[in-house]
Amino acid sequence: MVDSLTTEQRREMMSKIRSKNTVPEMTVRKYLYSRGFRYRLHDKKLPGKPDVVLPKYKTAIFVQGCFWHAHEGCKYHRIPKSNTDYWLKKIGNNISRDQLNQQTLRNLGWKVVVVWECELRKDATATCMELERQIRSNLQ
Ligand SMILES: [Zn+2]
Repeated sequence: MVDSLTTEQRREMMSKIRSKNTVPEMTVRKYLYSRGFRYRLHDKKLPGKPDVVLPKYKTAIFVQGCFWHAHEGCKYHRIPKSNTDYWLKKIGNNISRDQLNQQTLRNLGWKVVVVWECELRKDATATCMELERQIRSNLQ
């Protein structure tokens, strides 16, 4: 699937995926806002610049693309068959960085929640409701 793209198309796709304020991220933000949550975005002071930070709940949320962050067992996480070494290294670095950032956040007393893009694509409402449940349980 990804392999059929030209270099140019792939670059464009990647740049979209990598940017802030992606559609999945906006979905989560809109939902949380509509449910009365107030948050900070892309907090540079925290490891990994979490996409959404809820100080009251001491919760940091990462909305992650399945390809870039290697969602295990997910059909969107497939290493391209060309330049395989490059992608393995690149994605491998992302995984290490994610793990380090999330562990550091936990050590600082933050709860970390990861929302995967494929879950939002499949059922945004259910995914957001589950997220809300997790956030609220973090207050206890
Ligand atoms: Zn996925």
